[in-house]
Amino acid sequence: HKLSKDDAAMKFYYIGPMFRYDRPQAGRLREFHQFGVEALGVTGPNVDAEIILLAVQVLQSLGLKDLKLKINSVGCPKCRPQHREKLQAFFKPNFDELCKDCQGRFDRNPLRLLDCKNPHCHELGEGAPSLEECLCDECKEHFEGLKQLLTAAGVEYEVDHNLVRGLDYYTKTAFEIQYAPLGAQSAVCGGGRYDGLVQEISGDEARPGIGFAMGMERVLLALEKQNLLPEFDESIDAYVVCPKQENFALAFKTAIELRRNGFKVEYDFNGRSMKSQMKQANKFQAKQVLIFGEDELSRNAVTVRNMATSEQHEIAVNDIISYFNTL
Ligand SMILES: [Zn+2]
Ligand SMILES: [Zn+2]
Repeated sequence: HKLSKDDAAMKFYYIGPMFRYDRPQAGRLREFHQFGVEALGVTGPNVDAEIILLAVQVLQSLGLKDLKLKINSVGCPKCRPQHREKLQAFFKPNFDELCKDCQGRFDRNPLRLLDCKNPHCHELGEGAPSLEECLCDECKEHFEGLKQLLTAAGVEYEVDHNLVRGLDYYTKTAFEIQYAPLGAQSAVCGGGRYDGLVQEISGDEARPGIGFAMGMERVLLALEKQNLLPEFDESIDAYVVCPKQENFALAFKTAIELRRNGFKVEYDFNGRSMKSQMKQANKFQAKQVLIFGEDELSRNAVTVRNMATSEQHEIAVNDIISYFNTL
């Protein structure tokens, strides 16, 4: 749709199922759900700050506390090669001691040696030359600008030079929001800038971008840890029992009206016996059962039974909604 020809900044969001070809672990599922935003077309750190603020705000609005925002600059194609060489020179003497993954990363992307989860690799990485010292002026200025804006917005952050994120296409800003009680899978949101990605994929002119992704199952785990998940009440407000099919239309109408008034209501679809309908009512944990019996209906009324107390009342059909509203 030639969106890339649009000069204005473009903002997108998405929510959907994602799949990971990886060994599943707690908080790291094969199929998971992700929510993300992307902003394309802006070079300056202002949009970085905006995207990061948005992520923080989303998590805070859910009630999550003790979130930790970590930011870093992973440099750009101008300054990264220098750092890469320095890193390779640093790790080279201990190459044989690196884990298999890191040995593979050594040539491809030595930056990722810094965020290996293997404790020994972590030790070997202590004192490694930091990317910070190698950042070019443009990257430095960008990072300083971002920090300034985050501070201005009153957002607490921590600069973590080991934060490189798993994706090789990130440039300049990389960030992560962590919720420590989740342990090894503490990142609830991660993102960064990808100034070269659009060009790399489309062959089109460069179009800078930045975005984040939030793992929804991970967020749910965090909410659970903080007891912020709403209780899920499986019980229903009413079960409508109608033993005779000729009265079903009236029972149906009543059930629908109760639903329209916000009550959770079920009824029998299959014209089963009174006994099995009562059984169903129990299965649904119905708080009240409405019985459309012949006797009561002859008086334009139904029996409403409170399932907890077994108390019964005969209520006029026309008064059912107002009766339920008093319960
Ligand atoms: Zn740079
Ligand atoms: Zn490693």
